[in-house]
Parts: sequence; structure tokens; C-alpha cells
Amino acid sequence: MEIIRAKHMGFCFGVAGAIDMCHKVLKDEENNGKKVYILGMLVHNENVVEELRKEGFELVEEEEILSGEDPLNPGDVIIIRAHGTTEEIYNILNKKKVKIYDATCVFVAKIRKTLVEKEKTGYNIVFIGDKNHPEVRGIISFGQKVQVCADLEELKKIEIDKNKKYCLLTQTTLNKKNLEKIKSYLENTHSNVKILDKICGATQVRQEAVEELAKVTDVVIVVGGKNSSNTKKLYDISNNFNSNTYLIQDDKDLDPEWLKGKKRIGITAGASTPEEIVINIENKIRGIFNA
Ligand code: SF4
Repeated sequence: MEIIRAKHMGFCFGVAGAIDMCHKVLKDEENNGKKVYILGMLVHNENVVEELRKEGFELVEEEEILSGEDPLNPGDVIIIRAHGTTEEIYNILNKKKVKIYDATCVFVAKIRKTLVEKEKTGYNIVFIGDKNHPEVRGIISFGQKVQVCADLEELKKIEIDKNKKYCLLTQTTLNKKNLEKIKSYLENTHSNVKILDKICGATQVRQEAVEELAKVTDVVIVVGGKNSSNTKKLYDISNNFNSNTYLIQDDKDLDPEWLKGKKRIGITAGASTPEEIVINIENKIRGIFNA
């Protein structure tokens, strides 16, 4: 039995930066006697969030803030998660005089900025991504009238006026191949759509690496949060090339049956999966094989 890791996997710099920020803020603000909150899931990994809870952070959800049922008081401290939040939430937090530390990843912040700039210069925005994902909800909330499509099929159904100019932006974790299909469709049908590829580099190299891995292994274990968009994409890509692909959150989810008779075991992890979770899984695999 051989365990083969994807060439690129695990924590991206956006997630690592958000967790670093949490630790620094907790140290500084606890000394000042302040409560430190995190907005929703700081990163899409329950293990990471649970660890942060144990360290003393409290979680507050967007829904609580929007309905006015949150526990926040003036002077409390809140950290905005790596994939950002909506303009409305920023406004409410500012009104409440809560101290904001913003861990929004630079890639997400850049898309937000581009969207606002493009609308100001007369572009209509088409956004490719999952409209229910917090990153997408956050980014498009800064726009006036953004059309969101999940994929090429949805894009074909929206109205694109040939007499107007459009700018197409994307979620950071979009599958590169899906974007290529969209690009070739638009280049052949709509010359008035400017396409700005905003898939983040960390996402792209992880997606390419899992494809490579899935082709040369007997089984692929994808490790990450069940609500993590980038982890789900890694799973989908791997599954396209290797039907023995499994998505797990940690070693407890690993079923030894999946590994029976398998020689080359591939492993990859989403951008918010800590290294120690991957190591625990590798150790469990070695234990199963007595290797
Ligand atoms: S996946 Fe990309 S956009 Fe998201 S936090 Fe990581 S580096 Fe930033």
C-alpha cells in the first residue's frame, strides 16, 4: 500500500491568515477584557471552528445580526470570516459600534472592488457561482443589480442585451473547466461580455493536482468540511476521473471497506482543512494496512 498526497492541498493563505488573525486578536482583546466573536464559520471546517470555540471565541450568525437577536454590545470585537460578508452586515456592525477585524481574503476583497468599479463605469454584472454561498452573497451585496448563474446552462437562460456592456466575474472556487466552457460560449455568441477570471490561484492548483492524483490512484480520499465549496469541487473533479472517491471530514468518517484490495491511496484536502486532520487519516490508513 502506498499513500500518495496531491501536489497541492490543504490550508491556503487566506485561511491561514484568518486563523492567524484570530489568535492575535484573541490575545490582544482578551487582555482588554473584551468578548471576541467570529462571524459564522470563520472557515468552512467544523474542526477548525470547534477548536476556536474551545480557545474562547464565540460564534455569532448573520441571521442573528439581521434579526437584531445577536448578543453584540458596543465595544465587543468581531472577526469577519475569510470569505467575507454582506454590505448590510458591515453597516449594522458599524452602527452597533462593534470593533471589526476583517479577515476577508484579499482575493475575495478584490472581486468585490472590481464589481463596484465596473458597475460605476456602466457595466452590467454577470456573476458565476453558487448564489447561496456566503462568499457570493457577500460579494454581490455590494452591487446594484447582479445576475448570478451557477453554470453555463443557467447563463444561457438569462437575457444579455447586445446593446449593453457586461462584465463577467466568478466565485473564487469555481471549477476552471466550467469557466472555460462559459468563455468559449460567450466568445462565440456575445462580444459585449468582458470576462474576468477570478478563480483564486490556490483553488486552481488544488483542482489541477487532484485531477492528476485521481488518474494514478485506486482510491481518493478528499478531506474537508461538508459545506466547503472548494472541498466539494475537489471531490467532483476527482470523482470524474476516479469513481472510488470519498469525501470525509476526519478519520472517524473513514470506512476501511473503501480501501480493501487497493494499492495506491490518494489523499487531498480542502483549503480550510488543518494538516493534523490529514495526518490522523494517514495514520489510520497505515493502521488498517498494518504498514
Ligand atoms: S480559497 Fe482562495 S479565495 Fe478562498 S480563502 Fe483561500 S486563497 Fe482566499
